[in-house]
Amino acid sequence: MTQGSSSDFPSPSSVTQPFGDVTLPPGVDEAQLAQLAGFAAEVAERAYSPYSGVRVGAALLDEAGEVHLGCNVENASYGATICAERAALVAAVAAGAKRFVALSLWASPMARLLPCGVCRQCLFEFAPELVIDVTSSDTNRARYSLTALLPGGVTGDDLV
Ligand SMILES: [Zn+2]
Repeated sequence: MTQGSSSDFPSPSSVTQPFGDVTLPPGVDEAQLAQLAGFAAEVAERAYSPYSGVRVGAALLDEAGEVHLGCNVENASYGATICAERAALVAAVAAGAKRFVALSLWASPMARLLPCGVCRQCLFEFAPELVIDVTSSDTNRARYSLTALLPGGVTGDDLV
């Protein structure tokens, strides 16, 4: 995929952090997150969303610096719909990646985008400390840590 158009996105100074300050992981900077947002916006154009009309793109950055993409794929049964976050995650695992540092989401039209509970838990399996950077409807940009979005997420250590 071509490089994202990071200049089209709100500046880091306008990024809100509704659930507390988020520390960027080592090796990840604002320019990289802006580039990820560009990738997320690009892949959102491929979303299949005839029922909601909402296009969501996800760009998942792994520890090795590779980016894995996903978009929402809706289904007439509704329940079989796949979110962009999980689409990116399964693509990443299929590509051999299992450790992740940041996720960028882009959605339109959407006033405020947050990953659903199922996606939070699926991401928690691999990256409890994941930084999630969200841009919705081109102008609203927010940043979260997955631990803040999913306190007490289930891990393999919880299983007998
Ligand atoms: Zn979801």
